[in-house]
Amino acid sequence: MTKSLDLELAAATKRYGDTIAVDAVTHRFHAGSYSCLLGPSGCGKSSTLRMIAGHETASSGDILLSGVNITDLPPARRGTAMMFQNYALFPHLNVIDNVAFSQKMKGIAKPVRLKKAGELLELVDMHAYADRLPSQLSGGQQQRVALARALITEPSVLLLDEPLSALDPFLRIRMRLELKRLQRELGISFIHVTHSQDEALALADDIIVMNHGRIEQAGAPRAVFNTPATEFVARFIGGHNVLREQGGPIALRADRLKLGRRPENAHLTAQVKDIEYLGATVNLTLDAGSAGDLTAAVSDETFFHDPVDIGVTVFLSWNAEDAHRLAA
Ligand code: ADP
Repeated sequence: MTKSLDLELAAATKRYGDTIAVDAVTHRFHAGSYSCLLGPSGCGKSSTLRMIAGHETASSGDILLSGVNITDLPPARRGTAMMFQNYALFPHLNVIDNVAFSQKMKGIAKPVRLKKAGELLELVDMHAYADRLPSQLSGGQQQRVALARALITEPSVLLLDEPLSALDPFLRIRMRLELKRLQRELGISFIHVTHSQDEALALADDIIVMNHGRIEQAGAPRAVFNTPATEFVARFIGGHNVLREQGGPIALRADRLKLGRRPENAHLTAQVKDIEYLGATVNLTLDAGSAGDLTAAVSDETFFHDPVDIGVTVFLSWNAEDAHRLAA
């Protein structure tokens, strides 16, 4: 079926008037990988995706697919396909005609395109709904149809713009698993835009953290989480405290901060400000004076072995290897 190819951005830049939405981004998306573009609203994720798709022209720089420059090709000739946030299904077409639509535009004979559309509906487990209208489907079902519709062009790179944001939290987690399964089965590259850290950590082979139109850090989820390169990444990826130490800021994972009742060997003294029970863990907000507010994520077992109350003074320590220097 479809081949998997490397996609490369070489100083890809997008300007809207005076706004630099994407600022000379260079990155290689590896063939057959699941990549997430992660960052806060307005950091340039969608503009990057739309440039790759060809729905937006690059102001400068190049986009290469398997070494071929596709920067100026129209969307349909790039080998990429896009799945939009709101799924953009045609409301007056039934499911199978929605999926077959692009094939119809290409002039492919009806029996051929319907057969192909049927196969894709089977792939996303929606063949039983072929005759329904989009309005007769749930959000998760509409998403599957939108996926089938994007995949009918046999792209080597599938682009997904916030594909899970329209779903309720329960369905979001289920569809997340399905997206990953589909990517594994097809073996093509998925590039998925999200502002959700959890989503990126759960899905991606590679996370590309963006800030102000630039890549702040790119790497495997575990590398990005364990060794955030900058204060921005440490704060955005979550689960870390940023400590102001001499020589530069330091990231310390919230689950590596140890609370003690005695001052011996403690690095900091703090007062318990808030306690949040989250099930498997208990999150404590700690007022550490000039070090600011810190978060400790304590296992429920550890916490309830010797529970502390709000207002109590605690002594904080950590292992040197759990503190990680950040680029200033
Ligand atoms: P994200 O997807 O990370 O939320 P976008 O790529 O949508 O970010 O936007 C990046 C920046 O470019 C923002 O400052 C946004 O306001 C601006 N921008 C996006 N699209 C347009 C447009 N069509 N015209 C002008 N500015 C735009």
